[in-house]
Amino acid sequence: PAVVSQIAAGEVIERPSSVLKELLENSIDAGSTRIDIELEQGGTERLCVFDNGCGIFADDLPLAFSSHATSKLTHADDLFKIGTLGFRGEALASIGGVARVLLQSRPPECDHGAEIRCEGGELGTIRPWNGAVGTRIEVKHLFFNTPVRKKFLRAIPTELGHIIDTVIRLAMAYPTLHLTLKHNGKLIHEIPATMGLTERIGMFFGGDVRESLREIRSNPGGMVDLWGYIADPSCDRGNAKLQYLYVNGRWIRDRSLSHAIQEGYRNLIMVGRYPIAFLFLDIPPDQVDVNVHPTKAEVRFRDSGALFSLIRQTIAKTLLGSNA
Ligand code: ADP
Ligand code: MG
Repeated sequence: PAVVSQIAAGEVIERPSSVLKELLENSIDAGSTRIDIELEQGGTERLCVFDNGCGIFADDLPLAFSSHATSKLTHADDLFKIGTLGFRGEALASIGGVARVLLQSRPPECDHGAEIRCEGGELGTIRPWNGAVGTRIEVKHLFFNTPVRKKFLRAIPTELGHIIDTVIRLAMAYPTLHLTLKHNGKLIHEIPATMGLTERIGMFFGGDVRESLREIRSNPGGMVDLWGYIADPSCDRGNAKLQYLYVNGRWIRDRSLSHAIQEGYRNLIMVGRYPIAFLFLDIPPDQVDVNVHPTKAEVRFRDSGALFSLIRQTIAKTLLGSNA
């Protein structure tokens, strides 16, 4: 089983930030309102996530590490209307296969919590744990048993950069979530629940970006709701590509929709420069397939042409409207 989980891990777990992404998604799915992250050495030595979500019952702890075990899908049909960030039941199994993991949890209904270890795919026994309500996962010595993969890890500042990107993507998708990030004992981000989306954008990308934001929203009543913020065409960040696209709360990469953003700014922005945009698409779950890529960063739309036009037109209209 250890070998299988190491192979599976290759698809999803590439570096500390991929571990973090999976743990954060689990905390969100658990209904957490606060998540604290602690790292050492860019997360390569130690990566710890502590949430205040629904927790895991003691008896279910081993199940969390078993492959294909998910508490989030009960019917095969559910795959086509996914409402949670996770659904494959692969992440913890994969992480447990390539690191030393300690999982501690206490559901609000329980007076005491429990813990279990999974090290290189070897599951330990369930023990009592006296901690706060929620879940705490500590991942140490990532890739300790897969030296080849360990060699692909980059310098600590690079890994930390990926970690910060992951935190930023999540912080913008859940603007009422309280998030903290500590690295080597130093607080890097403290993002309170009261800090809204535009304030978060200002904190991450600078006051000039925040000042130039324009609100954007598609016509109500459509099957798809597009909303968010775009920056004034004069807000120039050189060749940095500040474009964030979310589908139903999930950060995604999509070349065609990036192109739609560019087209919306047509003739308003210098050639070779990227418009700045933070866009959220809320669409019926059966209109998007999130099960095409293990990390779920790429999705397939049922009608991507319609989304392309929606983005291009809504941006163009917003920019023209405020110029008139
Ligand atoms: P998935 O998220 O696809 O279901 P994972 O491997 O990421 O699979 O997690 C396995 C299971 O462990 C989840 O379905 C969930 O029941 C449980 N779990 C993991 N992390 C948490 C958490 N932070 N809070 C509550 N339950 C969790
Ligand atoms: Mg998950």
